Amino acid sequence: MGRPQTLKQSMPGILRILRFLWPYTRKHRPLVTGSFAALFLSVAFKTLEPWPLKFVFDRVIMPEHAKETVLPWITSRDPVVLLTLASVALLAVIGLRAVAMYYNKVGFALVGNRVLTDVRGALFRHLHCLSLSFHDKARSGDLIVRVISDIGMLREVAVTAFMPMLASVLILVSMATLMLSLNGPLALVALATLPLYWLPTKRLGRRIQGAARDQRKREGAMASTAAESMGAIKLVQALSLEDAFSQSFSSQNRKSLKEGVLARRLAARLQGTVSLMIGLSTALVLWYGTYLILHDRLSPGDLLVFIAYLKSTFRPMQDFAKYTARLAKASAAGERVLDLFDEVPDVCDRPGAAPAPSFRGAVRFERVGFAYEPGHPVLRGVDLSVEPGRQVALVGPSGNGKSTLVSLLPRLYDPTEGRVCIDGRDVRDFTLRSLRAQISLVLQDTVLFAGTIRDNIAYGAPGASDAEIEEAARLANAHGFIRRLPNGYDTAVGERGVTLSTGQRQRIAVARAAVRRSPILILDEPTSALDEASERAVVEALERLSKGRTTFLITHNLRHAARSDLILFLENGRISEQGSHAELMRLGGRYAALFTLENTAFVPSHPSTDHALAL
Ligand code: ADP
Repeated sequence: MGRPQTLKQSMPGILRILRFLWPYTRKHRPLVTGSFAALFLSVAFKTLEPWPLKFVFDRVIMPEHAKETVLPWITSRDPVVLLTLASVALLAVIGLRAVAMYYNKVGFALVGNRVLTDVRGALFRHLHCLSLSFHDKARSGDLIVRVISDIGMLREVAVTAFMPMLASVLILVSMATLMLSLNGPLALVALATLPLYWLPTKRLGRRIQGAARDQRKREGAMASTAAESMGAIKLVQALSLEDAFSQSFSSQNRKSLKEGVLARRLAARLQGTVSLMIGLSTALVLWYGTYLILHDRLSPGDLLVFIAYLKSTFRPMQDFAKYTARLAKASAAGERVLDLFDEVPDVCDRPGAAPAPSFRGAVRFERVGFAYEPGHPVLRGVDLSVEPGRQVALVGPSGNGKSTLVSLLPRLYDPTEGRVCIDGRDVRDFTLRSLRAQISLVLQDTVLFAGTIRDNIAYGAPGASDAEIEEAARLANAHGFIRRLPNGYDTAVGERGVTLSTGQRQRIAVARAAVRRSPILILDEPTSALDEASERAVVEALERLSKGRTTFLITHNLRHAARSDLILFLENGRISEQGSHAELMRLGGRYAALFTLENTAFVPSHPSTDHALAL
């Protein structure tokens, strides 16, 4: 779908953003109403501003020009009294306008900030609900830019551009009406150039918007590069990739600078053009207005009011030129935010989904097929039946669908064909939350969130008591080392738990799974990154953890797999062999060959199926 190119075309974009923001704004109705009232008052005082000056000119300095005698009792007063009255009135009007403007600005700033804080919170929540199929493709850095900086820009623009523009339009309308009522022909001369503003605004606005949009996109890409290289800094340094990443970053950085400068230059050109046109209007009004005064068809005070109004009327046009760039940026940023809101999670609660009862843990796959990309199936016709409390090992070469198969159970993805059942019911009949609450996961690379060890274990079951956390840690063989840490369970761990060894992190992950007390357990290569000593501790903990729970263990270590009740050998997305260790050895197929290979004299200390296959 093509992006809108002109400001006019982007108006639907802006309208779309406003429509989206409306429900959030409605919640702050009293504040919005108050701010609008202040806005109207400030516009009213602004239109009153030149009148005391006109009065002084027409009644005090050159009373001979005053034609109408609207207020004869005033005209008869002493000029000094009149002058004083006019000065006081001017002061009062300016003072009241300042007060109204203050409340209008503060009011709208509050609304803008509150609304966009709500939107940012909603966007963050929404991103977390989006399915893995979305996150697999999205770049996390770009998403962060959208949540932090695009929303920030939307807020900045809503407060500093949209509201002033609204005020500008009000000023324009009220002053144009007053000018027309003061002197029709002169007003027409003054306003004649107005339509001309649209030409440069439209032409330059389109280019400014293009540049702004490119810049936003570029910034998203830059954030992604930064997030990726920072996230893998160890690897980047080890492979001496610093220069490659820096070069890619600085080339994007330079392009972003270019686009930024281009947008600024175009905006400055637009402002310059508009100023020139204001000059033209002022000159025309000065010429024709003085001509009218000389022919006694206008008072000098009226001309003053006209010139003052002209400035105020055209100021919005000048501002508009300035805000075009900002609005263009906001619409680019806003669209990026709204595009995210438009993403619908493809894994979500079905209508009529009910909370899952406590599972016994019987798992069945019925002719399950799955493809990440249409036309490239990763799983085909998988049939599988597992009784509650059984241990199932999934083995086979990498990339054959083992992780994919187990990820269908907590509905990280939904199967493209067939169905996955727990206790005889399709997992899609349950609400996602209640389904996932009964499944624990231990992965190869455990992420510890910033917080204490206690917090990290409790993530498995929010609200778990200290005693439950400690019990889980004991089961996970983690209690001992946690106790020896400086602050025990209250030791803070870094963003990725960098202060702990992989083995210790893995045992915390086991404790996290244990505290959840779920009837189904998924272990995705939990020991493959460990040394022998840590591996023993983790394997022992996992054996304790899996007792009585339906367990799916993905492993490359066939000696671990051999202890399971059921072994599945996956090849090309199909279960090519299944049975107990003894059955598969008797069968003499791929599993038996690999097992024999691994357990002959030249066994490497960590045999892997990949290595074995490569031999
Ligand atoms: P295994 O666990 O057996 O190593 P996986 O289930 O991880 O295999 O992957 C099976 C296949 O699916 C592989 O070819 C892999 O490239 C592909 N795959 C895995 N995850 C994704 C994803 N998020 N998007 C697209 N393809 C994927």
